[in-house]
Amino acid sequence: MKAYFITGSQDLYGDDVLKQVAIDSEKIAKHLDAKIDGVEIVYKATVRNDAECIAICQEATADPDCVAVITWMHTFSPAKMWIKGLQFLKKPLLHFHTQANEKLPYDAIDMDFMNLNQTAHGGREYGFIVTRLGVKREVVVGYYEHEDVIEKVRKFMDVARAIAFSRKLRVAMFGSNMRDVAVTDGDRVESQIKYGWNVNYYGIGDLVQIANAVTEAELDAKMAEYAATYDMNTDNLDAVREQAKYEIALDKFLTEGNFGAYTDNFQDLHGLRQLPGLATQRMMAKGIGFGAEGDYKTAALNAVLCEMAKGREGSTGFMEDYTYDFTPGEELVLGAHMLEVSPDFASNKPKIEVHPLGIGGKEDPARLVFDGVAGDAVAVSMIDMGNRFRLICAKVELVKQAQDMPNLPVARIIWKLKPDHATGAAAWIYAGGAHHTVVSTALTVNDIRLFAKLTDTELVVIDENTEIGKFEQELEILDLVAKLK
Ligand code: MN
Repeated sequence: MKAYFITGSQDLYGDDVLKQVAIDSEKIAKHLDAKIDGVEIVYKATVRNDAECIAICQEATADPDCVAVITWMHTFSPAKMWIKGLQFLKKPLLHFHTQANEKLPYDAIDMDFMNLNQTAHGGREYGFIVTRLGVKREVVVGYYEHEDVIEKVRKFMDVARAIAFSRKLRVAMFGSNMRDVAVTDGDRVESQIKYGWNVNYYGIGDLVQIANAVTEAELDAKMAEYAATYDMNTDNLDAVREQAKYEIALDKFLTEGNFGAYTDNFQDLHGLRQLPGLATQRMMAKGIGFGAEGDYKTAALNAVLCEMAKGREGSTGFMEDYTYDFTPGEELVLGAHMLEVSPDFASNKPKIEVHPLGIGGKEDPARLVFDGVAGDAVAVSMIDMGNRFRLICAKVELVKQAQDMPNLPVARIIWKLKPDHATGAAAWIYAGGAHHTVVSTALTVNDIRLFAKLTDTELVVIDENTEIGKFEQELEILDLVAKLK
């Protein structure tokens, strides 16, 4: 994966200046490249006119390896030359408002220096045309060697990588969404237009067929892997072996079809003896997106946010708001699912256990049980408003479980809402946020904000500053804006 570093200039200054511009551009691109993992940052060109802008923007758009474009105006660059190029550009854009020099050289500064180093000037001219064209972009301001500046570029690259991943994402739905459930449904055609998600239905029988063909040797190997990785807290090894079969089958199905996410539905498990629990948890741990009850939006979002979080510390996974602690001043949310909680959230060594599910009428499924991690996190939900998608992002704090829950046979995490429980939960509900979310301790509101901006998605944020009256007004304005679009 690559990011193109493109420098804007013009012919007015002569060859010597352009030579220096190229040298400085190369140096800055190389510095960013050395500091940022996952994406190779390559200085591609200094553009001087509209033909060169068009050529490089077309090249970036057509290059499947190019996930982002960084533009920098070293000198002045008359912005009419950027119009047609930017109209061709279909990759996430970062406007790097930096300089080759950190400090003003008080003693040496002369007009030659001024002509060469005028980002403050050229960046504004260029910024105007990007705004006028309505091209969504990130503007990063500061000296390119400063760590906080590099960190902003790094975070942009994480989001750009996730968007490139999103454009290619294929989602398999085993069955449809849970009968009569509203929020897990959505416009799959629009999802593909907007985010690139190719979402298709498969009969669960397609998976059953592969599961039935799994060999005893494959199962023995998988069981050995489980025994080495987890505490086997059950005598019912048959039930665990059944999940091993599902994991192997899911791996084969998803790999063969190049799927990055999937859904299932406990109402449609014909031919499976158990709801996939342990199997799905294992898939999630590999970064495969999952949405329960046919929730394709959350499955896809889960995969995209896992890609965004790649290389960072922290945990990311599918989650569901389940039940509350309403103790005054100490309110908590307990998040879990019937079975499908990613072991990425485990704070202790997961145990494999087998318990009844109490729903769906299938055999007792094996699952991983563990306590969750603590730390600052975001909970993110995507809903279909009918005329557009909305992302809801809440800042939350994952906390350590205060006491054992000896009778709860599922993995769980516990969190506090912001600014307080009543406001946080009410705001979420006013915004229409789902019970299914993707929770991440690796990502921040800024990451989600950037993703929303670059994909032109409506976003509402719930954080320490949320105040219900203003929040409801914001939602009304968003409804109005959507109607005007
Ligand atoms: Mn659910």
